[in-house]
Amino acid sequence: MQDPTTTGIHNHGNMKHPEAPAAPIQAPLEWDTPMYRLAVDQLDQAAEQMNLDPNIWERLRTPQRAHVVSFPFRRDDYHTVETVFAYRVQHMLTMGPTKGGIRYDEDVNLGEVTALAMWMSWKCAIMNLPFGGAKGGVRIDPHTLSSDELQRLTRRYTSEIIEVIGPDRDIPAPDLGTDERVMAWMMDTYSQQKGYAVPGVVTGKPIEIGGSYGRREATGRGVISCANEACRDLGRSFADSSVVVQGFGAVGSVAARLASNLGARVVAVSAVGGGAYNPNGLDIDAVEAWVKQNGEDLRGYPDGDAVTNQELLELPCDILIPAAIQNQITEKNAAALRCKMMVEGANGPTTLEADAILADRNIPVVPDILANAGGVTVSYFEWVQGVQQFFWSEEEVNRRLIDLMQSAYRSVDQVAKEKKVTLRTAALMRGIGRIKQAKHVRGVFP
Ligand code: NAD
Repeated sequence: MQDPTTTGIHNHGNMKHPEAPAAPIQAPLEWDTPMYRLAVDQLDQAAEQMNLDPNIWERLRTPQRAHVVSFPFRRDDYHTVETVFAYRVQHMLTMGPTKGGIRYDEDVNLGEVTALAMWMSWKCAIMNLPFGGAKGGVRIDPHTLSSDELQRLTRRYTSEIIEVIGPDRDIPAPDLGTDERVMAWMMDTYSQQKGYAVPGVVTGKPIEIGGSYGRREATGRGVISCANEACRDLGRSFADSSVVVQGFGAVGSVAARLASNLGARVVAVSAVGGGAYNPNGLDIDAVEAWVKQNGEDLRGYPDGDAVTNQELLELPCDILIPAAIQNQITEKNAAALRCKMMVEGANGPTTLEADAILADRNIPVVPDILANAGGVTVSYFEWVQGVQQFFWSEEEVNRRLIDLMQSAYRSVDQVAKEKKVTLRTAALMRGIGRIKQAKHVRGVFP
């Protein structure tokens, strides 16, 4: 392979004409943040392993389109008007419309959304879905919003990005801090502007307006399907496993429930405030009911010991499922983890340094771009059902999802074994390899 230093690959795209005067300080790219760098470092590792064409490698390191908007947002007291920042990034438009969730979080930034959009590209390609990756975000703490405020914010954000989304263009879905209600308001706002109902502009909608059965549970179901496959591969029994889940939202609560339904012992779960640990196993119905009543600090849950989110990650268990936020398993705690396997429900929970430590310790990691791809897969099913106006039963959705997850797991695992690389590198190689082929056959315009 060509020396990357001579191809500009490590220049973050800032290639200069050879005779141009050297700039004393190179301005950082707008999206160059730690999370973006993690996504690029992962890409670089896989690209090197697969001897990727440097022209494609360079192209994949930056988003094709990155939209930053700001808008006024009025709180319920009517007097407070604040300026809110929001984003929609489309990483790669080669494979079809772009697809990816919308996140409401007070720390969201362009780099985070760009990293998430890149991961969406790999994820869709691993699952053979006809989409490129995208992601959106609004920088606000959704927990501080009333339902009316949430609705106003969502409608204004949708209006601000209306020119770049659409059923054939870019299709949002729920992510951290957003849900079915938010998708319904997005669909309604888009449809009002167009003058007719456009259900295909978002996925993860309520069933009443064209949502799919099984979408709400899809990501958690995919996570557990991967955990099952990984256990089978390693000759272990999922049903005899103990499981720890960080995060008790759309992904974590479903993962915990399905694990428990399959006979596994869910020994600890947490939400943003903290977690509960019971080595004999938690009753997930009771935990759900408790959270509904008492909120997102599980340290007060009566049938378990209180643990912090950091302590939870280091509890002894067979399977650890981080399903909350990014940057949770780092060089600081990777050596202290006592799980036998990790299955990533969240996006980007593990840093590159932690990945290396876990690989040294022979702890397999089923990576986010494979393990949490169930959500986008059923989003694809929702889109297909909407286009055809022909809706499937929940059993059919779940059966098709599990079939696709199992075959994606097997094909990634096969690459990992053949190339003697981790599951993460193998998953990246599968996804990037497919995109490379598509880029080759499409050529360069003009
Ligand atoms: P959610 O908002 O429904 O739930 C998030 C959960 O994480 C909540 O229980 C919250 O209390 C907890 N949490 C928030 N901040 C935390 C912190 N600092 N420490 C510990 N816990 C914290 O979000 P979700 O949709 O379940 O998404 C969770 C993760 O899964 C995100 O990384 C998201 O990108 C990823 N993901 C979601 C989907 C999906 O379909 N929703 C699909 C793929 C990946």
